[in-house]
Amino acid sequence: MNEQVEIELKNLLNSRYSTSESTRGNYARGEDTYDPILSKAVVFPESNEEVSKILKLCNENKIPVIPFGTGTSLEGNVVGNEKGITISLEKMNKILSVNAEDFDCRVQACVTKEQLNEYLREDGIFFPIDPGANAALGGMASTSASGTMAVKYGTMKTVISGLTVVLPNGDIINTGGRTKKTSAGYNLTNLFVGSEGTLGIITEVHLRLSPIPESIMSAVCHFPSLEDAVMTAQQVIQYGVPIARIEMLNADQMGISINYSKLKDIEAVPTLFFEFHGSESSNHENIKIVEELSKDNKGSSFKWAKDLEDRNKLWQARWDVYYSVKALNNNGRVYSTDVCVPISKITECVKFAEEQAKKFGVRAPMVGHMGDGNFHVVLPYDPEQKDIYKKLRAFNGTLIRKALELEGTITGEHGVGLHKKEYLLEQHPDSIPVMKSIKRTLDPNNIMNPGKIFDLN
Ligand SMILES: Cc1cc2nc3c(=O)[nH]c(=O)nc-3n(C[C@H](O)[C@H](O)[C@H](O)COP(=O)(O)OP(=O)(O)OC[C@H]3O[C@@H](n4cnc5c(N)ncnc54)[C@H](O)[C@@H]3O)c2cc1C
Repeated sequence: MNEQVEIELKNLLNSRYSTSESTRGNYARGEDTYDPILSKAVVFPESNEEVSKILKLCNENKIPVIPFGTGTSLEGNVVGNEKGITISLEKMNKILSVNAEDFDCRVQACVTKEQLNEYLREDGIFFPIDPGANAALGGMASTSASGTMAVKYGTMKTVISGLTVVLPNGDIINTGGRTKKTSAGYNLTNLFVGSEGTLGIITEVHLRLSPIPESIMSAVCHFPSLEDAVMTAQQVIQYGVPIARIEMLNADQMGISINYSKLKDIEAVPTLFFEFHGSESSNHENIKIVEELSKDNKGSSFKWAKDLEDRNKLWQARWDVYYSVKALNNNGRVYSTDVCVPISKITECVKFAEEQAKKFGVRAPMVGHMGDGNFHVVLPYDPEQKDIYKKLRAFNGTLIRKALELEGTITGEHGVGLHKKEYLLEQHPDSIPVMKSIKRTLDPNNIMNPGKIFDLN
């Protein structure tokens, strides 16, 4: 970065331009397995106009730009660039408007999902996309995030009705709007959703909201084998039982969570976690159906609860997944797989993952968003043990290829980042040239998160 650019950024942002090593270190990677790479500077814009001026300047001087939300992504999506700057959106954290009667709102990019739900509670509405981390809505849009409630409420792709995006040349554009549907031209909104900061910076997000259900109930059930648990989940979906969450933990992950939170009255065996949203009577009815289906598949110790505290206790093992695995090693990291397959193939895919983990000799705690056919093997990774990385990667590669064979995808929700570039080529060999030509049109100098998702040249 040349001196003139530094001076201009400093003049524009004053103390919101930082070159301190500790700040650069804090924005050098996400929750992934990569070693940190420090960008030359980190900047903290407060408005669309500031983002526009920064991008224009970087574009004219061909300086790489890494957009940064809350840094919870898992695939090397926010690893820094030693020739570039990282743009943290954290000061753009305002809720701009809420239209409770129309179930929509507009927020700045770094409003987090918990911040938004806190704000909406009084109006009896909520934002239903729930990744396990308290991520920023701009970051969630950029990775096309989903999480535990996608089975009922969809993904970021389905709840975003419009975006404000600053393009690499500094132009500010608005895609979509407040209406539930539109047929007006190309769907630019969903071009930017999932683009992982490679096409522009999302500064505002327009979201669809949902009414808080009259009643929420939770249940858990143990199973003698992972296959029995997954088959139950598959049947719950195939029989059309309305369910808000249906999550699976394998025996290893259950044991890890139990140790981590010293949980009582729960066993280290394959387990399904359910949540029901509806009226009290419909929830009771659906719990009964799910209990029967579970019993048909040798399920036992079926428990349910309706009060918040009891529900949280039932689900604690599920909420502990990521951090309990991370805590297995000193300074441990987590290597998470993320394949997604059609629901009728989920049992085969999970069984394959279990067999391959044994074959590769890797410890394989698992968690699944079973209603979507999406599951993660949450592999503990000790960065001190360099030789293990190759093994984890080979295991992941084998699982990804199996998912592709089953007509699935290499990533259900975490995105591609640096981690899955080679696999994206395998999944979409015919559309990669189209993706590259879109990238070249919007970002001819390749300044936006260069080297992520695919290599341009
Ligand atoms: C414990 C844990 C559980 C998780 N569970 C889930 C889950 O269930 N489902 C799920 O989908 N994910 C999950 N994740 C992953 C993560 O939370 C998501 O990928 C999330 O969408 C990342 O949001 P973020 O704000 O942290 O984005 P970041 O990590 O900051 O950035 C992610 C990507 O988006 C780009 N970006 C960020 N902000 C912008 C912007 N404003 N404009 C343009 N580009 C931008 C970045 O350059 C990067 O490429 C989990 C992560 C953790 C740590």
